[in-house]
Amino acid sequence: TTSGRMALRTQALTKVFRGFRAVDSVDLTVHKGGVHALVGPNGAGKTTLFNLLTGFVAPTSGTITVFGEDITGKQPEQVARRGVARSFQITSLFENLTSREQVELALQGLTRQGFRFWRSQKLLGRHRARVDELLAQVGLTPLADKPVGLLAYGQKRALELALVLALDPQVMLLDEPTAGMGIEDVDRTIELVRRIAAGRTVVFVDHNMHVVGSLADRVTVLQQGKVLAEGAYDEVRNDERVITAYLGE
Ligand code: ADP
Repeated sequence: TTSGRMALRTQALTKVFRGFRAVDSVDLTVHKGGVHALVGPNGAGKTTLFNLLTGFVAPTSGTITVFGEDITGKQPEQVARRGVARSFQITSLFENLTSREQVELALQGLTRQGFRFWRSQKLLGRHRARVDELLAQVGLTPLADKPVGLLAYGQKRALELALVLALDPQVMLLDEPTAGMGIEDVDRTIELVRRIAAGRTVVFVDHNMHVVGSLADRVTVLQQGKVLAEGAYDEVRNDERVITAYLGE
């Protein structure tokens, strides 16, 4: 069956905020092992779709399946248990912790809410080998013991990737992994995402078409909550409606 090849699927997925259709009847299929980009102008519904896929927002209607299992209406922790994880935002990093401690925290599966408990348990220093491996994967080994607050922007973004990798998700959702980066950090991040995407399914949002073209094997273009176009990068890039949507922004 084709469902065996699907990592994520939404059918007629809709989110209405006070009468406003932020995500409007979206049918999205992400193939197992694929790297799938979500693009579209600001307000197109990309963030809301991410929030729906990870259980942070409950849909108004429609369904979401992960590896064929219906997860519609499930809580974020339940979605995470099925192997779907999203990148943390820099805002969730603790400036006073070192990169090493921050990754260890992620390995404990703890969020800010669990932090007091974690501190009281004095778990620091556990998972040493795994922490080192994760930091090495994102190129932060030399900065392992530096407080997060002292890292450069691109290094913080790399740390975010280590935190999502710590969960070893089958499906990884990355929210604008190259946002705000200069060209060197962008290229470094493309290489990094390519490496960590091996053996996983990745869905990412990015505004940089160089990044989308370099990484994505499928692209879904959203506009005003709806799917405007879907296909391989070259197909989508040359689609008249997509060109019009972007130029008309
Ligand atoms: P994108 O990530 O593509 O920029 P969003 O998903 O953030 O788009 O937003 C899509 C639309 O939904 C926007 O018009 C936004 O104002 C609206 N929206 C998003 N979240 C909420 C909310 N919690 N309440 C009301 N409107 C929202």
